[in-house]
This record gives sequence, C-alpha cells and structure tokens, in this order.
Amino acid sequence: MTAFDLLVALHKPSERQGPGSTETTIRALNLLGIDQSSQLNICDIGCGTGAQTLDLARHTSGKVIAVDIFDAFLEELNHRAKAAGLDHRINTQKHSMDELPFAEESFDLIWSEGAIYNMGFEKGVHYWKTFLKTGGYLAVSEISWLTDQRPPDLEAFWKEAYPEIDTISGKIKVLEKAGFTPLAHFVLPPTCWLDHYYLPLEARHETFLDKYSENPEAGALVASDREEIALYRKYQDFYSYGFYLAKKL
Ligand code: SAH
Repeated sequence: MTAFDLLVALHKPSERQGPGSTETTIRALNLLGIDQSSQLNICDIGCGTGAQTLDLARHTSGKVIAVDIFDAFLEELNHRAKAAGLDHRINTQKHSMDELPFAEESFDLIWSEGAIYNMGFEKGVHYWKTFLKTGGYLAVSEISWLTDQRPPDLEAFWKEAYPEIDTISGKIKVLEKAGFTPLAHFVLPPTCWLDHYYLPLEARHETFLDKYSENPEAGALVASDREEIALYRKYQDFYSYGFYLAKKL
C-alpha cells in the first residue's frame, strides 16, 4: 500500500476530509445572495467524499460537477449521492484541480472547501476564474491567520506545511488582484474542526494503526495528524479556515 492508499483508507469513512459543516456551507451559500432556485451550473473542486457537494445539491436547484483526484473518494460520493436520491444532480469527475477540462466561462459558481491549498490559493483563484462566467461566484475556504502576530512555533509549523498561509486581509487582497469583488468572509468556528473533522478522525486512529501495523507509513500518518490536532487545540485562537465569497467582475 502506498502512502496515498493509506491516506485514502484513513479518510474515506469520514463525513468530510477537512474542517467544515453543513451549517457553514449553507451560511456561505446564503451570503452569495444568489437565486438558489435558478438552474445553476456548479463545480465543487476537491470534493472528497462530498459532504458539501450533497449540501449544495440539497440547497440549490443546480447541477453539481464534483471533482477530486482520488477515485475512492468519488466512488464514496457516488454511493452517498445515490443513497440521498441526489445522483441525478451530481456528476463526479476525476481531474487534477490544476488541469481541468472544462470550457471557459462555463460555471455560475465554483465551490471549494479545504482543498485549494493543494495548488496554492493565488494560483487556484487565478486559474479557476477562467471557468467562471462573468458575474459568476467563487466560494472557497482557505487556512488563514486570525491575528497579525503569532507564537513562533505555530508560525514555523504552518510556514513549513503551507507557506501561503496569510491573514484574512491578505487573502482578500489576492482575490481583488485576481479580478474578483470580495462579497463576504467568515471564519469557521472550532466545531467545524473538532466535531466534524478531528474528533471522528482521532476516534479511528487506533483501529487504523492495528489494521496497518506492518506499514511504517501508517504510524507516520497518524503521528502527523496527532501533531496537527495538538497544535490546533493549543493555538486555535490564532488560525482557522476563512470562508471567502467573491464575484467575478
Ligand atoms: N472538500 C472536502 C475535501 C477536503 S480535503 C471536504 O471539505 O470535506 C482536500 C481534497 O482535495 C481531498 O479530497 C483530496 O483528494 C483533494 N485533492 C488533493 N489534491 C488534488 C488535486 N490535485 N486535484 C483535485 N483534488 C485534489
């Protein structure tokens, strides 16, 4: 089993693969102020097993193309969509987020929760903009500093893990420079990190370690999760995901 197989095996049973919640997905959708009963073309990038994809399908009348790099996540989303009776509105497609096959200006709304860091926020918002219609909307969550000053060990950890981490005002500046009008932003509350992501993940760590005890990569994966979770518990006042809502000029 490769490190990627292990990552997928650990995360596939989860409700979601990053911080978030149904409540915050709906809050972001409402902040856009769009007519949710219109036939929107939506693209959900880095969808994982699709917690937010299902919420988007439930709370709009649109069709959602859900994109991820891992087949196993897309299969799980297909299964969940069918179980929810939403499979006719959700189309899963395997692509890399930095190499999308879509026509320019084809979407009314591009959504992405906890995933744009894989290609980097700045590169991502510039690239994805080409696929949005003029006047279309971008809704993206991105790890962000909540303060101007941070404890040095926290700063060092995130600078290593994701050098593009920045303050909320820094992220909004990137959106403006890319030709978006920022509409709103809010910060994901701790329940999105703990109840909906870290606690269920933590609860699976021991059985995961037992199952893959022969594989040293499994131990490394869990150790890295545990370090990240401990850091969050200690320093949650200093960082979170910002949810950014913007409109293409
Ligand atoms: N939006 C989901 C998943 C977030 S985790 C949620 O909030 O629960 C980040 C997701 O990005 C994972 O599903 C991962 O498989 C996907 N991903 C990572 N690199 C990618 C890439 N290059 N292209 C598309 N998806 C990618």
